[in-house]
Amino acid sequence: MARCPFAEWMEISGSSGSYTSGPFKIVHHTTEGSSAQGAFAAFRANRSDPHFTVDSSKIYQHIDTSKAARALRNAAGGVQTNRDSAIQIEVVGFAHRPKVMATLKNVQKLCNWLEAEHGIPKLWPNGLPKPAVNGRDPRGHNRNAANWDGKGGHYGHSQVPENTHWDPGYTETEVDLLMRDSTEGIAARAEFESTPTEVPGFYDAVSTMPDHADPEGVHEAPAPRPTRRRASVPRKPARAGAKRAAPVAGRAGKTGRAATGTKRAAGTKRGSAAAKPRAATGKTARAKPRAAAGKTARAKPRAAAKPAVRSAKPKPRTASKTKPRTSARTRGARTAGKRKPPSRRGR
Ligand SMILES: [Zn+2]
Repeated sequence: MARCPFAEWMEISGSSGSYTSGPFKIVHHTTEGSSAQGAFAAFRANRSDPHFTVDSSKIYQHIDTSKAARALRNAAGGVQTNRDSAIQIEVVGFAHRPKVMATLKNVQKLCNWLEAEHGIPKLWPNGLPKPAVNGRDPRGHNRNAANWDGKGGHYGHSQVPENTHWDPGYTETEVDLLMRDSTEGIAARAEFESTPTEVPGFYDAVSTMPDHADPEGVHEAPAPRPTRRRASVPRKPARAGAKRAAPVAGRAGKTGRAATGTKRAAGTKRGSAAAKPRAATGKTARAKPRAAAGKTARAKPRAAAKPAVRSAKPKPRTASKTKPRTSARTRGARTAGKRKPPSRRGR
């Protein structure tokens, strides 16, 4: 029985059962969205809750750490995932973008507490998570099942057997920060000065992991619905349609979701609530060009990781194409990004 004393309790779908095996471990995810509220809607719709959701201002707890969460896919056979003593944290943000200092500090504080509470070592048995390459899945993740089942410590979702997602995409600096003691005054430390307090364009960013909230493809299948669902004649064709549509094109996922959502809206009371966030998520996830977002995202941490490179890199590149004032303009754009009103409203 463990509830974090500094987390806000917020039950959503409940636990997926008791743990079956393994020493305690912490699994790091990114929500692939820019707000905790958006993540909650997705968890509710997909019954895919982690134990904790963390953003720059708060830590929410959805499931007691003595019970299993639901944010991992678990295949038939093989090892257990959610139920292998995996305490799961969803970090509000994107695998392909830098994480902000305030959020990381909250994750760090939570990890410190979990490590002490459950005897979890500050180790990464399957190696450190891999950051994005050009805003995309870097691939080559170590998902060693024997380590997972037998060794306590930290794992990215990208390092859990039977799973295909590559979140959280932490950089080494981000991991380094998370592994520190939260009582250290890390924010002022030189090695972390590059960690942003805000990421320009964060609230306009879109995931490069478009299937992240898909319950069938990703997370464990939703629990069977109550029997009143028996009258499911209209539901079947919709599902079949969605399934058939899926392989056709990149947009098919959206079509499938929209269709399912519509059926739900017609069939159940919760339908409209469930349909909205999905449609919204699907839409944003595909509507916007992500090339730009990816570029910005990678530009920062790369530069950030090596301060020496940072001053040298942007100048020659932009200078050769445009005039010297480009860097000033870029800085202006970044500042503008920082001040964007939606970022405040989003909270
Ligand atoms: Zn994940």
